[in-house]
Amino acid sequence: RAYNFNAGPAALPLSVLQTAAEQMTNFEGTGMSVMEMSHRSENYERLNNETQGLFRTLFGIPDGYKVLFLQGGASTQFAMVPMNLLPAGKTAAFVVHGAWSTKAYKEAKLFGDAVTIASSKESGFKSVPDLSKSALPDNTAYLHVTSNETIEGVQFDAFPETGEVPLIADMSSDILSRPLDVSKFSLIYAGAQKNLGPSGVTVVIAKDELVDKSPEHLATMLRYDTHAANNSLYNTPPSFSVYIMNLVLRWIESEGGLAGIERRNVEKTNLIYQAIDESEGFYRGHADAPYRSRMNITFRLSNEDDEKAFLKAADAAGFVGLKGHRSVGGCRASTYNAVPYEACAALAEFMHDFRRKRQ
Ligand code: PLP
Repeated sequence: RAYNFNAGPAALPLSVLQTAAEQMTNFEGTGMSVMEMSHRSENYERLNNETQGLFRTLFGIPDGYKVLFLQGGASTQFAMVPMNLLPAGKTAAFVVHGAWSTKAYKEAKLFGDAVTIASSKESGFKSVPDLSKSALPDNTAYLHVTSNETIEGVQFDAFPETGEVPLIADMSSDILSRPLDVSKFSLIYAGAQKNLGPSGVTVVIAKDELVDKSPEHLATMLRYDTHAANNSLYNTPPSFSVYIMNLVLRWIESEGGLAGIERRNVEKTNLIYQAIDESEGFYRGHADAPYRSRMNITFRLSNEDDEKAFLKAADAAGFVGLKGHRSVGGCRASTYNAVPYEACAALAEFMHDFRRKRQ
């Protein structure tokens, strides 16, 4: 297996792929692949419900929330959230600390009034901005945060207290990577292709009252109430993606649930952050230390020649996906749940070796 540090679509657990391979032509004795099954069949309905149930158990989702499986990626949620939840006369508030929260904010502005209440843009998106000095406007419909900025590698630790104002989070790149108190959030969304499975399914976890009634004139497919009322089976679902997600959720369970996964993620990323910190400036982490992501480790080398040579040598040594996003350059190691400890240990070792040879 390659040492896969891709930012998304990203590595999947080997055991999940092996199970999927075994069941590829005959899912649970049906003589069919999941891909060939009717989404109106009892078998698929069971898979759909079981996958929702696994989410509820693993994430500790309280009663009063729906778990929806949609399509269109997190990018469609950038629009669906304001279309459904931002009425005229209200304001959507945003915390902006990287490329994805910027996009979410810009998209919301297409549908209504939106403001940025705190941003770390001026300081180069190296941190989550200090929220203690920012107040929410009186007529705030919701506060939107991005729990982990995938491109800059900057992650929320403690989330803001918003009282009565709904807190909405894009968790595309760190969902199920650590235990969280879901009851703090009114709506969470995530594209699957980092921690949950293949691209194609987008998970929305939301309080019933936010998804049970959408504005009258919204298109059917873009209304949360359509999907909530139909148990995510209004139209043909991304059935294969949901199936793989089911296997991934079982794998997380077998790894000790979110507490076990978090422990692994901390151990894995410590190895790479140590390689950065011990390098005396040869590698330079992008994020300020308290905001360092456990999912996307972003760093630069002290000069462009070294950086190019590093990426070339890493590629030759079998490390995949280490080039930083084209908008920021540098290097990025994405260490999602399924990236094994051994891959991170090998990368840390490679970083030490490369530095020793180069210095
Ligand atoms: N939000 C975050 C934090 C992301 O990392 C990404 C993709 O990388 C997106 C949104 C966009 O997701 P999608 O490609 O599923 O639309």
